[in-house]
Amino acid sequence: MSDSCLFCRIVRREIPAAIVAETEHALAFRDIAPQAPVHVLVIPKAHVASLDAATDAAMLGHVVHLAAEVARAEGLAETGYRVVTNIGSDGGQSVAHLHFHVLGGRAMGWPPFPR
Ligand code: 5GP
Ligand code: ZN
Repeated sequence: MSDSCLFCRIVRREIPAAIVAETEHALAFRDIAPQAPVHVLVIPKAHVASLDAATDAAMLGHVVHLAAEVARAEGLAETGYRVVTNIGSDGGQSVAHLHFHVLGGRAMGWPPFPR
């Protein structure tokens, strides 16, 4: 738990978010700047800076599993969707609390590095 971390603050309900799913160990909420018709962030409730810092494989499995459950609940399972996590500066990570983006509702581009 980090006092100033934005996503820890969302977990503690200090900052509002449009929460779509919650378990004992994970939270899913809509991205504030959606890049697709569906754009949900799925995070562990415990503070972990990124995938690189994650050591708890069970936690990772739980969070990724919730990402798939959210995608299904959002109606994305039939047409497909993308789950992505950015790591560090070259990865494009802007919030230093591990999160998986669930993106769908439109066709995704590949490769995912247009710039
Ligand atoms: P990153 O760039 O670290 O992979 O993703 C961070 C994501 O967090 C971005 O897509 C950004 O739009 C989202 N985000 C940043 N601040 C907030 C916020 O206060 N609330 C919500 N719901 N999403 C946020
Ligand atoms: Zn945090």
